[in-house]
Amino acid sequence: MFDALSDRLSGIFESIRGKGRLTEADIDATAREIRLALLEADVALPVVKTFIAQIKERCSGAEVSKALNPAQQIIKIVNEELVAILGGETRRLNYAKQAPTVIMLAGLQGAGKTTLAGKLAKHLKGDDHSPLLVAADLQRPNAVGQLQVLGQRAGVAVYAPEPGSGVGDPVKVALDSIAEARQKGHDVVIVDTAGRLGIDEEMMQQAREIRAAVNPDEVLFVIDAMIGQDAVNTAEAFRDGVGITGVVLSKLDGDARGGAALSVRHVTGQPILFASTGEKLEDFDVFHPDRMASRILGMGDMLTLIEQAEAVFEEDQKEEMTQKLLQGEDFTLEDFLEQMQAIRKMGPIGNLLKMMPGMGGQMRQQIDSIDDKQIDRTSAIIRSMTPAERRDSSLINGSRRLRIANGSGVTVSEVNQLLTRFKDAQKMMRQMSGAMGLPTGTKATK
Ligand code: GDP
Repeated sequence: MFDALSDRLSGIFESIRGKGRLTEADIDATAREIRLALLEADVALPVVKTFIAQIKERCSGAEVSKALNPAQQIIKIVNEELVAILGGETRRLNYAKQAPTVIMLAGLQGAGKTTLAGKLAKHLKGDDHSPLLVAADLQRPNAVGQLQVLGQRAGVAVYAPEPGSGVGDPVKVALDSIAEARQKGHDVVIVDTAGRLGIDEEMMQQAREIRAAVNPDEVLFVIDAMIGQDAVNTAEAFRDGVGITGVVLSKLDGDARGGAALSVRHVTGQPILFASTGEKLEDFDVFHPDRMASRILGMGDMLTLIEQAEAVFEEDQKEEMTQKLLQGEDFTLEDFLEQMQAIRKMGPIGNLLKMMPGMGGQMRQQIDSIDDKQIDRTSAIIRSMTPAERRDSSLINGSRRLRIANGSGVTVSEVNQLLTRFKDAQKMMRQMSGAMGLPTGTKATK
């Protein structure tokens, strides 16, 4: 999702990157391009209008900073406006003061409600809650069975009418489930309700009745992001007909243009809480407007990147690296090897690089051709060096290069390339410790 929009936006920013100054005409042209890009991505017209008006006003207004070049300035403003359109701050779930917290799910049939119920339950369980899943969708054949299977997979209890018990009243099921949660000590109740293929009064009525009976702390509208503009109209209808407190985007993994995701917050006035990105229980995330905006802009989800890096970069490695920098010790090939291995552990390098800034359009195609084997080859080259060579790369003369190349099954020119890359990295590390006000390397290689 959003790939086409990201590419368009990168192209627009690229075209103004070289400009020293932006005239009023440049700003108008850029705003027009952005407007077209948003419309092509299926963003609702009122949202596009508000967005563009803001961009134009801010770009030509007094706010323009002298510290940034025009392209940076526009990227910054577009980013901030995207974050605003997506809801600004990350909105967390509201919990009841007195357990259980009741979360009701609503939406059209096929939107992904039942799947979402399972994902949310698993997510909450991971956060030390004890959720109860409630099957109050008694309309869709097998919705109850599907929820039971999901509950089992998520390791979460499911409350459902006994088959053949004759209980066909979803309001009663929802109400009884609250008593069950109290009795069994569940602190969150997730009620899956029935959807229809289109909006109809009977469905709205039923959802209103369930709402009135269980008085939920959250009513989350699950919206299929693949169905474009229609999804947003449906969200409005649910907001007016049932009352919703938040939105969940489902099927964000699809290749639709993403306009619904960008419009729904503005159109309904309700925040997006979660995003569902696949059929598996794990394909689920808390929705962060800032991260989504930078992903759309192709400026990279640096936060996610940092989190991932931290997760794999073991504590002692971090500590060791900080100590080295603090003591002004030089960055060695040994450290370079450790970094490679840390990167390798983060998963396919292509995914990782796509999250970094400036990776739109053509760059992305190039990245797709990058190969994790390259990292493995680099590691092999460093492993073929002696410990002394790893500590001091200036020892590595012509004959040593040949030995290392033979030892690791690569050409001498690959060894040379690696050494050049390493020296650049070393220089960067020195600059970093310089910028931190630390002494620079004492054993610098020549
Ligand atoms: P419900 O009728 O609203 O309860 O919808 P379901 O939960 O049964 O989902 C309908 C279909 O969409 C199922 O085939 C799900 O596997 C699929 N689905 C749900 N969420 C996602 C998602 O985030 N991505 C993808 N690709 N498929 C999803």
